[in-house]
Amino acid sequence: MPELPEVEVSRMGISPYLEGETIKLVHVYQASLRWPVPDEVKLTEGLVINKVMRRAKYLLLETVMGSLILHLGMSGKLRVIDKSVPRIKHDHIDIEMETGKILRFNDPRRFGCFLFQPPGQVHKLLANLGPEPLTLAFNYQDLYNKSRDKKTAIKQFLMNNINVVGVGNIYANEALFKAGIHPQMPAGKVSKKRYEKLVFLVKETLDKAIVQGGTTLKDFAQTDGKPGYFAQELLVYGRGGLPCKVCTKPLTEIKIGQRSSVFCDECQKR
Ligand SMILES: [Zn+2]
Repeated sequence: MPELPEVEVSRMGISPYLEGETIKLVHVYQASLRWPVPDEVKLTEGLVINKVMRRAKYLLLETVMGSLILHLGMSGKLRVIDKSVPRIKHDHIDIEMETGKILRFNDPRRFGCFLFQPPGQVHKLLANLGPEPLTLAFNYQDLYNKSRDKKTAIKQFLMNNINVVGVGNIYANEALFKAGIHPQMPAGKVSKKRYEKLVFLVKETLDKAIVQGGTTLKDFAQTDGKPGYFAQELLVYGRGGLPCKVCTKPLTEIKIGQRSSVFCDECQKR
């Protein structure tokens, strides 16, 4: 599943082909995505995309008449290709630009979405989201204050969009390991000092993934481009039972809130 760094890398990859360019046509070949594609997406035809923005894992293509919202869901991929490239299976949406380039959305599982946000409004999916992790709005004082009296496991607390957006399972596992915090520790019991460390490490982990992903940017303009799914060096995620890279003890794997959680009993304390 694409996580925030992959979505941000997608944004960086597609922006140069879209920003300042005019949308010629919006082709919807499959309107049954996670939510039905609204007819309003057509309102952007003939308009310039002023900016390609990201909010949590949503991409917003902004025009004066409103924004197109894209979410990659579980299996969505975006490519920028020439108009002449034939569609393949699961190519559901084409945003055709006057330049002859197309932003093509492919999504085998159709958990992604393509929606419309009128100007001056915030779509309901975006209305109640917490702070962006890479901005100052996400800081340890606020997170600490929000966590008081919370009995939720710190890992679930960190993955809750109300507290901070875009910290998915991979990055929650990684950041908690680096911060030395046991993922099952109640959020309300984690000290301010440890929140300071954790918030720094969440930002650093996401940042590093974006920088690493940036090296795949050239793929966006290729027909076989697989943006987002870049290889990363992970310390704990996907390594249950394997030796901890710090102390060599086998890593423990459990489920927390139905999500696989990998941690080191030795390095991560309650
Ligand atoms: Zn360890």
